[in-house]
Amino acid sequence: MSLLDNKDDLKALVEKLNFKEKVERSLALIDEAYKKYGDELVVANSLGKDSVAVWSLAKKVSPKIRGFIVTTRYKPAETIRFMNEEVARHPELKIYKNDAAIPDRLYETDPDKCCDILKVEPVQRAIREMRVTCWVTGLRCTEGRTRTDFKEVEERDKGLIKLNPILIWKEREVWQYLALYRVPVNPLYGAGYRSLGCAPCTKITNDDNERAGRWIGTSKCGGECGIHTRPLTNDH
Ligand code: SF4
Repeated sequence: MSLLDNKDDLKALVEKLNFKEKVERSLALIDEAYKKYGDELVVANSLGKDSVAVWSLAKKVSPKIRGFIVTTRYKPAETIRFMNEEVARHPELKIYKNDAAIPDRLYETDPDKCCDILKVEPVQRAIREMRVTCWVTGLRCTEGRTRTDFKEVEERDKGLIKLNPILIWKEREVWQYLALYRVPVNPLYGAGYRSLGCAPCTKITNDDNERAGRWIGTSKCGGECGIHTRPLTNDH
């Protein structure tokens, strides 16, 4: 049976598969999807550790695979620098950003709306303009309370497949991969961050929950920006 159609117990696989088996499974998922969707398969790269791991895996499958980065006016300077280095290394990464005028400190008064405008809209635009039918993400099911129910292959929006090839990796295995294959990472991890986002909404914490430092003090605390929960196409 095709790995894209697997009905495996993913929660069991998180513990059962070892690092090498997980890497092989991720490569096989991307390879199968690339054979099926070709150039319409595109990697979403948020510049976090999970994204750069997935981007590296995709490049092993084919150097031709394209990607997009969504950035905002509130990304830390380190992330912008890292983004520019990544794009210089990989010109097949396209940057998307929404520069529309928004109220000051919207991230405090209405963070959902702020994320909708600054993050979800550019993802929708990237998917439309790059003619994506399969987007590849760095989602992991052990990453936080909002990420336990995803599947490796999903169709949340009609006609748009979402592939989550490292869904069953643990945080430690991501770092293991990045260290073993010497993948460059955002220097903010060296400062103590475990999950990266926009500067006003991201803090360093020692909480067990990897995403606990995101949107502290708001209803979104530890949650999602919306690109994994909101519709991304008009056809749904
Ligand atoms: S993470 Fe914060 S600043 Fe960035 S888009 Fe969302 S609410 Fe706005």
